[in-house]
Amino acid sequence: MREFFKIMGPYFFPYKGYVVCTLFLNILAAILNVFSFTLLLPILNILFKIDQKHYDFIPWDQCSWNNLKDVLINNGYYFSQSVCDAFTPSTALLLFGGILAFLTLLKTSAYFGGSATLMPIKTGIVRDIRANIYKKILNLPLSFFTEERKGDILARVSTDVNEVDASITSSLDMVIKNPIFIIIYVGTMFAVSWELTLFTLLVVPFLAGGIGRIGKKLKSKSLYAQSKWSDGLSQIEETLGGLRIIKAFVAEKKMEDRFVAVNNEYRRASMRVAIRQSSAHPVSEFLGTCMIVIVLWFGGYLIFSGNSPIDASIFIYFLVILYTTLQPIKDLSKAGYSIQKGMASMERINKIMSAQNPIKENDNPVIFPHLNSQIEFRHVSFSYSETKHILHDINLTIPKGKTVALVGQSGSGKSTLVDLIPRFHDIQEGEILIDGINIKDMSILSLRSLIGNVNQEAILFNDTIFNNIAFGVSNATMEQVTEAARIANAHDFILEMENGYQTCIGDRGCRLSGGQRQRISIARAILKNPPILILDEATSALDTESERLVQDALEKLMKSRTTIAIAHRLSTIKNADEINVLHEGRIIETGTHEQLIALGGYYKRLHDMQQL
Ligand code: ADP
Ligand code: MG
Repeated sequence: MREFFKIMGPYFFPYKGYVVCTLFLNILAAILNVFSFTLLLPILNILFKIDQKHYDFIPWDQCSWNNLKDVLINNGYYFSQSVCDAFTPSTALLLFGGILAFLTLLKTSAYFGGSATLMPIKTGIVRDIRANIYKKILNLPLSFFTEERKGDILARVSTDVNEVDASITSSLDMVIKNPIFIIIYVGTMFAVSWELTLFTLLVVPFLAGGIGRIGKKLKSKSLYAQSKWSDGLSQIEETLGGLRIIKAFVAEKKMEDRFVAVNNEYRRASMRVAIRQSSAHPVSEFLGTCMIVIVLWFGGYLIFSGNSPIDASIFIYFLVILYTTLQPIKDLSKAGYSIQKGMASMERINKIMSAQNPIKENDNPVIFPHLNSQIEFRHVSFSYSETKHILHDINLTIPKGKTVALVGQSGSGKSTLVDLIPRFHDIQEGEILIDGINIKDMSILSLRSLIGNVNQEAILFNDTIFNNIAFGVSNATMEQVTEAARIANAHDFILEMENGYQTCIGDRGCRLSGGQRQRISIARAILKNPPILILDEATSALDTESERLVQDALEKLMKSRTTIAIAHRLSTIKNADEINVLHEGRIIETGTHEQLIALGGYYKRLHDMQQL
């Protein structure tokens, strides 16, 4: 429970007003409940004529803390006796019944109010958790997501949050309300007969022990079940992405078997959790009834033996309260199990929430709106992991307004090198400087605002063409978007689509061809109008015809900008001001196209191969 309040506490904080409200209403409900039960006493007395004693009214001013209980009981009896004397028994019963009904109405209203004020808390907490995870996902570095699988993250956002909703927030009212009820009921029991209550409490440890046993392994079992479902979701995610290949390689059966295995294991694990959880109610029911039986026996024994501290009708009242106390105890134990299960999910969610972003912003970051002279790599080395170095001692200068190209075989580290400029990864050795300022000292926002990306795989969103082009710019007008599309050679094909710029392009732009997607992403870069442009194999995935269109668009984009272009096809970077050949993470040749051909080295060999 301590863990529960530690983890969930901060989530309650914004709703403290509601928490106070619901606490108050539930206390009110419990007190009203106790009082409505006291009406049982005169009713029992009337029905069974148990009490023949005559009561005199004690004036309220004679009442003090010491005799409060006695005065209250005496005057209560006096009142009910006067009612019984004044009316016939059946009218008196009706009257008491009416009061009981009225008190119950008040009680249930307070009860309802208590639950209703809880709703904003419950729904709010779940909303906040979702929003926090989403925000965290946006903030974490790219490297986090290569280690954590997407399905696993999806499982945490969806299934685990739902589990928290189902297990924790739905038990919240039980956690808030039941302790209040139990305290007030036990307090009442003490007021009625402390002897009997003490005896009753002796039985409690045995009740709690039985219930606690079951809850023990619930969390670890639940963690295991959720991790299995993460595996399942990862597979679904992979399958959706790779459906084309799965069908082409007729691997449906293989994929299905893999999924069935995970799915079965998930079912087995969650079944065990559910069975264990469902034993909560019967166990507490049984133990609770045992408790009542023992108290019944003990109280009855006292009354029969003639030296009982209470009379029969008060004993019945005591039993009614005791029985009423059992329900919140049962609910609380059920909620306890439920929370154990939910905490497993909360723990998984917290794994993401507590993930550190290694890319930290300087405390006094330099805001940097323009590029004035150059970008410089100075003795830069980088590796994704301890074991393998990807880039070694890179020295590279990219002057303002020039186009610098990177070529080299795949895996030589070209994409990695350009990812270092917007700080998608932080370098281990050396420095990257823009106008002489280390990028680690710059505000990340202003650094990234300087840079526009066009990649091999155009990354588009399931939205309209307009919104995809206007993605990096707030308040873009239709004219600006059209102009960007025109420069990117995209305007014509966009107009041919059914809704023009308002056409939805489907998931990741799947309703467009590769060349069209690429031109939209170029239009997006044109609209952002960044001083630095990074083109990572922007035309590699295209056929010759659309390559020509895209290349043309790119050249317009590169004009007057500082560009780093990675190209697979050397023809596209022939005109670059400088070409760097990257091989196994080192720059091995540098020069213009003509110089490198004349050098007759690695570049010439690549060039000759492509001529074939
Ligand atoms: P290129 O773009 O030249 O084809 P990359 O920069 O993509 O090459 O990759 C260079 C090397 O870095 C490759 O060996 C690749 O396996 C490795 N690599 C790329 N991305 C990651 C990553 N996120 N985590 C670990 N290794 C990576
Ligand atoms: Mg690459």
